[in-house]
Amino acid sequence: MKQQITVIRGDGIGPEIMDASLKVLDALDAGLAYDFQLAGLAAQDETGDLLPAATLQSIETNGIALKAPLTTPVGGGFKSLNVALRSHFDLYANVRPAISFKGSLSRYENVDLITVRENTEGAYLGEGAFTTPDGSRAESKMIATRTGCERIVRFAFELARRNGRKRVTVVHKANILKDVTGMFLSVARDVASEYVDVDCDDMIVDNACMQLVMRPERFDVIVTTNLFGDIISDLCAGLVGGLGLAPGANIGEKAAMFEAVHGSAPDIAGRGIANPCALLLAAAQMLEYLEMHDKARRLRKAIGDAISSADRTTPDLGGNGTTDRFADAISERVR
Ligand code: ATP
Repeated sequence: MKQQITVIRGDGIGPEIMDASLKVLDALDAGLAYDFQLAGLAAQDETGDLLPAATLQSIETNGIALKAPLTTPVGGGFKSLNVALRSHFDLYANVRPAISFKGSLSRYENVDLITVRENTEGAYLGEGAFTTPDGSRAESKMIATRTGCERIVRFAFELARRNGRKRVTVVHKANILKDVTGMFLSVARDVASEYVDVDCDDMIVDNACMQLVMRPERFDVIVTTNLFGDIISDLCAGLVGGLGLAPGANIGEKAAMFEAVHGSAPDIAGRGIANPCALLLAAAQMLEYLEMHDKARRLRKAIGDAISSADRTTPDLGGNGTTDRFADAISERVR
């Protein structure tokens, strides 16, 4: 029986990169059935609702979603749709690999690291956020719970163990944000003591940013809080050639959602030049999650081969291909 997944084509470049990605997944014969659902501006146009109940129900039923970028309308009253989806399904672990591809426009050739970002707490809850009516003062809360810290750190160590990774680096700011990130660090140290087969070290976030730029090869798995993880994972995307190569998985106990790290890129939408690789690499993470390890490996290899031979690559990778033709180059390699 085919594995059914919820597919959200999204906004901006979303439909272009999703159609290209599904074409590659079909060439891979991944055995997936697609349950297309709406979210974002496309959903608002069609149903009047940015996040329709039918979409939430589909994700709940299938347990797996492949999602293209969504546009959250600018202005008051709108919570980020991505944040809303993550909190609705309690997708607490955001897993963002950054791996160098030969032939990409990157300064480094030896990056192979995974950022595990806490996805549901920290500075992004929006709890207690307000601006005084005269606009002179704004406040928001940062929240950490022992349970939240423990489950994300444990997730990172389990991921390291499963993937034969050698070291987990805990990134924090416990010297200044003593309570919230102090708790994260102390819980991380406790959890680390249970994983004697995986090395653990810790680093203050500002130093971690500098070390990542100077010696990215020293990092293996990074585990960190929501805000730091957001920034660090984009920094890591920059180390390996930009957002067009940066995938992300959002994983919870009952559901998982796989997506490109980048946004809807309104500046290039509709021009057929968006790089589909970030979404395709997210699809590879999804195949791993579904335990289709061989298909995930074949997909990653096909992407790497197409990039390194500069076959029909998109402009962000230095080529003059289109989204569709680049997907063909990858499809030909997965068959
Ligand atoms: P949003 O508000 O939806 O996050 P944004 O434009 O602020 O949109 P991104 O969509 O992440 O942020 O785009 C940042 C830059 O990266 C843009 O110049 C965009 O064209 C480029 N970019 C993002 N994704 C891709 C892609 N898949 N292929 C090529 N360029 C991309």
